[in-house]
Amino acid sequence: MIKKLVTLFMLTALAAVSAKAVLAADTLVEVKKKGVLVAGVKDSLPPFGYIDEKSRQIVGYDIDFINAIAKKLGVKVELKPVTSASRMPQLQEGHIDIIAATMTKNPERTKVIDFSHTYFFTGQKFITKKGAVKSLKDLEGKRIGTAKGSTSEQNVKKAIPSATVLSFDDYPQALLALQQGKVAAVTTDEAILAGILAKAPNKAQFEIPSVQISEEPYGLGMRKGDKNFVDFVNKTILEMEKSGEAARIFSKWFGPTTQFHLNRSFKITADK
Ligand code: GLU
Repeated sequence: MIKKLVTLFMLTALAAVSAKAVLAADTLVEVKKKGVLVAGVKDSLPPFGYIDEKSRQIVGYDIDFINAIAKKLGVKVELKPVTSASRMPQLQEGHIDIIAATMTKNPERTKVIDFSHTYFFTGQKFITKKGAVKSLKDLEGKRIGTAKGSTSEQNVKKAIPSATVLSFDDYPQALLALQQGKVAAVTTDEAILAGILAKAPNKAQFEIPSVQISEEPYGLGMRKGDKNFVDFVNKTILEMEKSGEAARIFSKWFGPTTQFHLNRSFKITADK
């Protein structure tokens, strides 16, 4: 019995030490040593992270930020698809070095991980059947699809308490449910909705009404207390703003030659 307890104690101590090792590791040093930056990204959300039909590679706005950071570090890039629910555990368990996956920075998440300065800005809206929704009232008591582990899921429950929220692994599955008439709306960040709607086969039947329920600033996620790495990433994205590279990346994915025609309403600045 005592022997068993001692073993249990030793195993617990060992687990605590190795967990701490992952938490305390200096990712900047580690990444340079292994020669590769492993990023958790979305792979079905154009234009943030999706599989390019021709090259079969994951491409997008989030990926271009990772490529720029890796270039500055002089290392290769490895992209690992994550979902909204899996991205923080993947980072904490050391399977990825950084999250670049449409992720909103908020106080609740900042307790668990660290974020870069804001590198994209959007707000939460809905996709509905054309003409069906003029105000939030029209969604009361309705079934609404979104993704597990997202701020979208939390915000919509607060904004429309009478709605039944159905949480899918990711937004394309929620859109499919809308197309099949299983939900009355899909909700998440407007920039994501615009991207999945643009790819939908019967998109003419749907629209994004101008009803917004939140603001969503995106940050690159890193392990809590990984200060050197966070500083490096922040310095890099501020330089990208200054050199015009950040604006070029925005324009490439959202500008006048794309189907989105979005204006860049933000600049990357140091958080206060
Ligand atoms: N930006 C929101 C979030 O971080 C919604 C998009 C997503 O699920 O990634 O939760």
